[in-house]
Amino acid sequence: MSGATARTVTETGCHDLPVLYERGQHEVFCGLTSIVWLHRKIQDAFFLVVGSRTCAHLIQSAAGVMIFAEPRFATAIMEERDLAGLADMNDELDRVVGRLVERRPDIKLLFLVGSCPSEVIKLDLGRAAERLSRAFAPSVRVLHYSGSGIETTFTQGEDGCLAALVATMSSAAAEAAPSLLVVGALADVVEDQFRRLFDALGIERVGFLPPRRADQLAGIGPKTRYLLAQPFLADTAKALERRGARPIEAPFPLGAEGTTAWLEAAAAAFGVPAERVDSVTEAGRERAARAVERHRPALGGKRIFFFPDSQLEIPLARFLVRELGMEAVEVGTPYLHRAQLERELALLPPGTALSEGQDVERQLDRCQAAKPDIVVCGLGLANPLEAAGMTTKWSIELLFTPIQGYDQAGDLAELFARPLDRRTRLEV
Ligand code: SF4
Repeated sequence: MSGATARTVTETGCHDLPVLYERGQHEVFCGLTSIVWLHRKIQDAFFLVVGSRTCAHLIQSAAGVMIFAEPRFATAIMEERDLAGLADMNDELDRVVGRLVERRPDIKLLFLVGSCPSEVIKLDLGRAAERLSRAFAPSVRVLHYSGSGIETTFTQGEDGCLAALVATMSSAAAEAAPSLLVVGALADVVEDQFRRLFDALGIERVGFLPPRRADQLAGIGPKTRYLLAQPFLADTAKALERRGARPIEAPFPLGAEGTTAWLEAAAAAFGVPAERVDSVTEAGRERAARAVERHRPALGGKRIFFFPDSQLEIPLARFLVRELGMEAVEVGTPYLHRAQLERELALLPPGTALSEGQDVERQLDRCQAAKPDIVVCGLGLANPLEAAGMTTKWSIELLFTPIQGYDQAGDLAELFARPLDRRTRLEV
């Protein structure tokens, strides 16, 4: 959790959506949390947090302690004794990495993940990554990004990680023909479904970032069109554009409508006729609509309040309002990245109350006054809100669960129906 000087400004943003900008105390998890899903996704990567005991505890408790498997994350703890000099800290880091690489020949990609303790901030991890990459080339590539909790939300860890990967993508491999790059970590099952759909649409050269293995990293260049699968990747998007790739603007693939619009946007960019898109997506659209419809009795007409946490809030609100008939009381987001969210904002009903940033006490007051049926928030707020009689949903679960695509639309709706059902049973 971190704080700043309180400031609240309300403006009418685009699409007639009032936006409340708040710059006060805010409750967020740090970017280290994203290691939990990233280490599962990139199967030959290792995430070495350069941090404190607090960082080690956070990452262990978030990811669980793996007793039987070899873990692919760890913390190099930089303690007081390391403060004697930066040279000592660099030597210590080199020793830790050396031991790790020697013991784990399966590691092909090593991320040095920065954190917020002051002794770590003094360390130049960019230089350390270059030095170590040279030392262990060609078998291990060493990159770095920050997972620091200073002014970040937990999904920014993924943004930093993917932006670091973009810098290492080859341009030679992308020169030949137009290609599609799907950007944002997706569960393997979801990635496989999308790959089959792109195949059926006739889009041949499709890469996913992050890849499942380091040597599957796609190429990039002016013929690359990128399609974001997650809404929190503003830095990655800038890095891709610096390498010549061009965006495909689309809503995000949540629910039947979002998934269809997302696929349609990719198809239009590659000249796929609308009739082909229609026939390829027909079965999926119908399955998703049927699965979502089952949750309408539980969710239709219910009022939902989003605290800013995962940066998925706006696409989620769009799905819940448009496909399940819920009412969004307030949709808070840590950052309102308009370039990435334009298509989503256009789909929200006029007058939807948006807020960017946070002043947690004021927002709690608004939430309590509104008495929503369900609140989506971070772990730190969930317990006090439950104790105050509210029904909550942890936003972090939406990153740990496959929710994108047609075949996950019903599961996504169920994630919101379940806490309401539990509350009803408790009250009986
Ligand atoms: S990076 Fe900062 S906020 Fe995150 S666990 Fe470490 S000390 Fe805490």
